[in-house]
Amino acid sequence: MNEAFLKALEALLGPGRVLTDLPDRIAYGSDNSRRFGLPLAVAFAEQAEELPEIVQLARRHRIPITPRGRATATTGAAVPSEGGLVLSFERMNGLLEIDPTDRIARVAPGVLNADLQAAAAAHGLFWPPDPTSAGYATIGGNLACNAGGPRTLKYGQARLNTLALTAVDGCGRSFRTGAHVRKRAAGYDLVGLLVGSEGTLALISEATLALRPLPPARGAVRALYGDASAAVAAVVRVLRQPVTPTAIEYLDPQALALARRLGGAETGPPGALLLVEADGDEEELPRALARLSQALTGEGLLELQAEADCGRLWEARRKLSPALRQAASGKINEDVVLPIGRLVGFAHRLEALSAEWRLPILSFGHIGDGNLHVNILFEAEDRDERMRAESCAEALMQQVLALGGALSGEHGIGLSKRPFLAAALDPMTATLWRELKRVFDPDGILNPGKLLPD
Ligand SMILES: Cc1cc2nc3c(=O)[nH]c(=O)nc-3n(C[C@H](O)[C@H](O)[C@H](O)COP(=O)(O)OP(=O)(O)OC[C@H]3O[C@@H](n4cnc5c(N)ncnc54)[C@H](O)[C@@H]3O)c2cc1C
Repeated sequence: MNEAFLKALEALLGPGRVLTDLPDRIAYGSDNSRRFGLPLAVAFAEQAEELPEIVQLARRHRIPITPRGRATATTGAAVPSEGGLVLSFERMNGLLEIDPTDRIARVAPGVLNADLQAAAAAHGLFWPPDPTSAGYATIGGNLACNAGGPRTLKYGQARLNTLALTAVDGCGRSFRTGAHVRKRAAGYDLVGLLVGSEGTLALISEATLALRPLPPARGAVRALYGDASAAVAAVVRVLRQPVTPTAIEYLDPQALALARRLGGAETGPPGALLLVEADGDEEELPRALARLSQALTGEGLLELQAEADCGRLWEARRKLSPALRQAASGKINEDVVLPIGRLVGFAHRLEALSAEWRLPILSFGHIGDGNLHVNILFEAEDRDERMRAESCAEALMQQVLALGGALSGEHGIGLSKRPFLAAALDPMTATLWRELKRVFDPDGILNPGKLLPD
């Protein structure tokens, strides 16, 4: 069966497009979660027109397909956990159109986020989702995970900034949904459904994206607080005044210490840090920054630096996630979201969890959206520590749900957060999710084992 499938696939795609050697299959077996599954083969998509035939062939042979951008997913979403075919979009990377009049981009799914930003910037435009992984993550992966990033606070995630998609479902049916317009009230929102579906409903073969004008001026305020609670309380104050910052990034005391080590020059008293950024025109920006500084001023503030050059700290912030791998041999990274009003209580609970399970917990992230990357560190070789880390993660998720929060703000569910889904989803919602999956992919060949509850 597998032999017949591979032969037909090679005949369909031609030479150099299907890899079956073991080292290649191993290289495409994991993503940034470090989970692993050995695929039967790796194929490179190049044209939208050939996707229906690839899917129909896989369906006939009951071969699972794991779509893959650049495998920066942190949840195992791009891991071929049930074997089958890894379908890589890395070669399908055409920037098809930038339309400055309508402020719209049309791209193939393998375009890197950073390449789109560079092309849009040449027209004075940008696409709002800006994951820290922008230099090596694809638009297809951004859409499949509903990616965000720091400036989501003002401009929204991928879903809010996607206008139309061309896609191929699990039966091999190609369809276009949405339109080259910025406003629609015309029926079911299949674009919104496909964004965030982690490759389980359809393969995205083209995306039409809403761009925005690059603001003429940007500025930042950096505020250091004595402890996490004081910093989090300041976030609440900032969000209650009328200026919406572009980003509010948070580093708890341990994350700040690590960022300072990574950044070299940044030294200073211990504490929790907020980087608050705003944009606008040259005249209004100073007033916006003054308002933000006023809101940041309050109990526990140690230092406030307006219009700070935060470039080095952002650079260090970008390196934080990978650097944690050096701080401890094991980490569980959750990107939970809390209602803003519950953040102060949550900061206390994180401290209590760290003490209860005797493990370091570092948190940082896009706190203006209530989104925190919570990292539980442990020694992977130490069985007791590993088990404590898993229990701690479970307790963390229970607390998040009890506080009315969500399992993921931008990384998605993949494999790693599936165990918590039953508690997070209303049972009828879970049933509707499964029914939707059957409509798009009746044989369950698209990214099986991901996203959906058991
Ligand atoms: C250091 C680091 C920092 C990060 N920072 C952020 C951040 O700030 N914000 C954020 O949102 N995320 C962040 N991420 C997570 C990750 O980079 C994003 O989820 C990114 O969008 C994944 O893109 P990718 O090309 O690597 O996709 P992959 O990891 O290859 O795939 C991700 C998912 O998309 C599916 N997929 C890929 N292409 C297609 C397609 N054409 N059709 C259908 N499904 C497809 C895959 O099957 C999988 O389910 C970070 C990751 C790292 C490693």
